[in-house]
Amino acid sequence: MMHYIGPAYRPPFEEKSLLLQVSTGCNHNKCAFCSMYKGVKFTPSPMEDIESDVRFIGRNRTLFKRAFLVGGDPFALPYKRLKRIGKLIGEHIPRIESIGCYASIPNVLAKTPEQLNELAQLGYANLNIGLETGLDDVLATMRKGYTADEAREALSRLNEAGIPFTLNLVHGLAGSGRSLENALASAELVNEARPALVIVTALHVDEATELSEWVDSGQFKLPSLQEVIEEEAAFLRATELSDTIFFGMHETLPVRVNGHLPKDRDFLASEVEAALQRFPGQQLAAPMRRRKPITRA
Ligand code: SF4
Repeated sequence: MMHYIGPAYRPPFEEKSLLLQVSTGCNHNKCAFCSMYKGVKFTPSPMEDIESDVRFIGRNRTLFKRAFLVGGDPFALPYKRLKRIGKLIGEHIPRIESIGCYASIPNVLAKTPEQLNELAQLGYANLNIGLETGLDDVLATMRKGYTADEAREALSRLNEAGIPFTLNLVHGLAGSGRSLENALASAELVNEARPALVIVTALHVDEATELSEWVDSGQFKLPSLQEVIEEEAAFLRATELSDTIFFGMHETLPVRVNGHLPKDRDFLASEVEAALQRFPGQQLAAPMRRRKPITRA
């Protein structure tokens, strides 16, 4: 029997991956807009549980080709622990070709280039990183725990090590009146970083967050639907990438598109812009909806 404990999430592209829990909660757990792991202490899983799960899967001759390490922030684990997990997987489940997990800019920076090289050799690939925005003041306000320059450095180290990655962005995170600025700053950083995949969402304010309190007090002005649509189109048009999948299908987005950049760039931007004609003016001017906190069993 596999060991799973606490809330666990996986990105949409990992539905066929072996989900192997290596930690619980998020090591950072301070982002102003996030309620995913509120009240959950970051705890590495006991190594004996991980080893037992890997051996269990290995004995059962499964067809998994990829493992996704579960937990809010598995890349926060020390290099030696990640190396041990990678070796265990290679030894007991040789069919696994790559190992992914959520990662953050600070915990990439906490690994040396040599350590990242070693992890790449063990199969670590397609790490999923919440970049959110390229604007320094928004990163600071939202308590992401890094600057845009630190993000540049971390992503450049991943590229150097040959570890592909996904970047997540939040349209509307800079608030009302800053859509174009946010789109251009995010595109500039993404262009430099050259991710394999970009996943976008629209700002959705969970009620159990600090951001929700800022909205209530008037400290943060929610963007309108129109601003979010314009931000997505401006972001797409500002991308200069050579081989990146764009995934804009999240339920929060008013217009859902996906494709390949640069091939589909102008088509996708036009599709997003066309939505401005489809929504009634009143709806376009309304602020983005808020939503109830995620409930857990
Ligand atoms: S957004 Fe990511 S890093 Fe920030 S608190 Fe939530 S899970 Fe942790």
